[in-house]
Amino acid sequence: MSGRLQGKSAVVTGAASGIGRATAHAFAEAGARVVAADLDREAVEAVVAAITDTGGMGVSVGGDVSRRADAEAIVATAVERFGGLDIVVNSAGITPRALGPDVDFERAWETVISVNAKGTLLVSKAAVDAMRAHGGGGAIVNIASVMSMVGYHPSLALSDGFNPYPHSKGTVLQMTRDLAVRVAAEGIRVNAVCPGFVYTGLTRGVTQNPELHRALIAMHPMGRLGEPEEIARVILFLASDEASFVTGAAWTVDGGYTAA
Ligand code: NAD
Repeated sequence: MSGRLQGKSAVVTGAASGIGRATAHAFAEAGARVVAADLDREAVEAVVAAITDTGGMGVSVGGDVSRRADAEAIVATAVERFGGLDIVVNSAGITPRALGPDVDFERAWETVISVNAKGTLLVSKAAVDAMRAHGGGGAIVNIASVMSMVGYHPSLALSDGFNPYPHSKGTVLQMTRDLAVRVAAEGIRVNAVCPGFVYTGLTRGVTQNPELHRALIAMHPMGRLGEPEEIARVILFLASDEASFVTGAAWTVDGGYTAA
C-alpha cells in the first residue's frame, strides 16, 4: 500500500474514530501528509500521535464541521502546514441516537442535517476554493451510506419514518454528483462511498443489542457487518490516481446490503 499517496496533502474529518480514523492511518501508510480533524480534539491528537509514532506525517486539528469558520480553518491547516490540498475525506457524521432518546424530532433533524450534510458542504466548499487557488486538481471522497439509497428496513425499527439520517445521506450523495459534474473539467474528482453497517462508535448502540445485531447481520448477504479498514481501503482507492477516471460515483461497500 505504501506510496500510493506519496507527497499528497490530505484532510480527513471525523478522524478521531471509526472510518475516519482508519482512513487517516491508511493515508499516512500510503505516504500522504494528513490533517486529521475532529470535534474530539484529544482523541484526534492521539490518532496523530499513533501516525507519527509509526513514521507517518500528520497534524491534528479540532473543530466542528458544521461551523463555517471551523471548516475553513481545517482546510487552511492543510494549506499552511503542507503547502496545498490534494485530498479531502468527509467522514465526520452523527446519527440522531447520539442526541439521546428525548430530543425533539425537529431539533434532531436540524442537528443531524447540519453535521452530515452542511458539514460536508462547508468543508467541500473550502476545499474546492483551496484546490483552485493552487492550480486545480484534487479528490474529494464523501462518506455517504446505504441509507443514501434506501430507507431503514421496518423490521429493524430504527426509524419512525422521520429519521434525519437517511435524509442527510441522500443529500450527501446528491451533493457529490452535483459538485462532481461542475468541477470535473478542473481535474477535481468527487465521489461517495456508501458503507453498509460497520463496527464503529456510531453503531455501537445498535450492535450491542444482541437481537438488533443478529437482524443487521442477516441483512448483509455476506453474513457479517464491515470493519472500518474495509471502508478505508476503498476510500484510499478513490482518493488515489488509480481512480483517475472515476467521478460522481456512489461506491457501495456493504457486503451486499443494497443488492438484496
Ligand atoms: P464514528 O462515530 O466512529 O466517527 C465519527 C467521528 O466524527 C467521531 O470521531 C466524531 O467525534 C466526529 N464528529 C461528529 N460530529 C462532528 C462535527 N460536527 N465536526 C467534526 N467531527 C465530528 O462513526 P463512523 O461510523 O466512523 O462514521 C464515519 C462516517 O461514516 C459518518 O459520516 C457516518 O455517517 C458514515 N457511515 C457509517 C456507517 C457505520 O455503519 N458505521 C455506515 C454508513 C455510513
